[in-house]
Amino acid sequence: MGTRGSTRTRNHNPGLAGGGAGGGGRYHRPPVPNLRPPKGTDDVLPPESRTWRQVLRAWDDWSERFGYELVMTPLFEATDLFERGVGESTEVVRKQMYTFEDRGGRSVTLRPEGTASVVRAYLNAGIQGEWKGAYSGPMFRYERPQGGRRRQFWQTGVEHLGTERPTADAEVIELGYRFLVDLGVPGVEVQINSLGDAVDRPAYVAELTAYLEARRDQLCADSIETMAVNPLRVLDCKTCAPILGDAPTPDQHLGTEAAEAYEEVKARLAAADVPFVEAPRLVRGLDYYTRTAFEYVGGELDIAQVALGGGGRYDGLAEEIGGRRVPGVGLAMGIDRIIVALGEAIPAAALDGFVVTVAGRNAESAGLVSQLRRAGLRVDAADPERSVKSQFKAADRSGAPTTIVVGDEWDEGLVRTKRMADGTETDIEIQELAAWLS
Ligand code: AMP
Repeated sequence: MGTRGSTRTRNHNPGLAGGGAGGGGRYHRPPVPNLRPPKGTDDVLPPESRTWRQVLRAWDDWSERFGYELVMTPLFEATDLFERGVGESTEVVRKQMYTFEDRGGRSVTLRPEGTASVVRAYLNAGIQGEWKGAYSGPMFRYERPQGGRRRQFWQTGVEHLGTERPTADAEVIELGYRFLVDLGVPGVEVQINSLGDAVDRPAYVAELTAYLEARRDQLCADSIETMAVNPLRVLDCKTCAPILGDAPTPDQHLGTEAAEAYEEVKARLAAADVPFVEAPRLVRGLDYYTRTAFEYVGGELDIAQVALGGGGRYDGLAEEIGGRRVPGVGLAMGIDRIIVALGEAIPAAALDGFVVTVAGRNAESAGLVSQLRRAGLRVDAADPERSVKSQFKAADRSGAPTTIVVGDEWDEGLVRTKRMADGTETDIEIQELAAWLS
């Protein structure tokens, strides 16, 4: 932080400058903070965090298998980027952004999603042609928190830029599907739709608007508001769904090229053994989608949060944020919801072995722990200064399947191992230990 920052800190935080509680100076100490994390945010601790690691590793693995390299963009951006790149008519931009003025008077916003930033980064780097990037990190939206709907939440996603080929759409959809199935999310379903091209949209929107206007007095208040800014999105309203059964849908109004592209996406999915259902009313929350739109549902979540992820094609986005025309397709997976969908089961221990040290064997024990870690094993040890009994308690708590005791057997080149599940003890040669544990 620069000089200016620290000056301010001193002004605002005089407790540090010697005020002290009730110190009688003209400064007051700031109130003691609440130890709970802010509303709609979470601390993720072990053992639940084991599931997070497992899921994020699976994401890295699957996105690499599909040829997506890592891209990292800032957690905050100029507010304009999201206003233009997500769209002013969206719920996200109208109601959910964490926007503030920084100390230099710029309006910045904590990123509510990843796509606009990745496309900005692609344009800014002067990349030409086809390019594939994967991201993973926290996003921020001011929402009414509930399970699986948070104010800070984690998305992983990919963007495939610089191509209009429907094979890219199918590949993106397949990646998300494989990821969810590999994790073991129950009942994964891929829903797809085509929203048509920008040129097809005005005629369709006119027809839809006329249809909605005729039923205005039956629509919910939210839908009436949405209708004024983006009529398409009314199709997505769960409350109004029963009265909109015969509404015109985008897939019935595709131009020739969009229709052909949609057929090819479906054919490619079938060829890759990705089951899908067509969902003519699926429109997605963000403004910039053209042609393909899709979502993944699954798990045992209530209706407000069934979408585990989704995405689509956004051929107009790059121009919308001030660049040249760059077609693109991408997806975003909601990791918080995927964790909920996976249920309560916590993955097995995060350790392969736990080392207990008999008095006088600290050096041997420390050397062994280091050697096992270098051999690729996940190993931890208790404080060797504590009693063996209390070290064994720590071994139990660690959840490691095997405890390794470094004691007097060491002089014969052995350590004693104990299988925690049934108490079986076996002496193992130190040289063999790493292989034996794995
Ligand atoms: P979106 O960027 O709105 O298309 O969302 C993509 C996915 O991110 C959704 O399907 C959700 O799984 C997840 N997601 C969106 N908003 C939230 C939120 N507030 N809390 C948790 N997950 C979210």
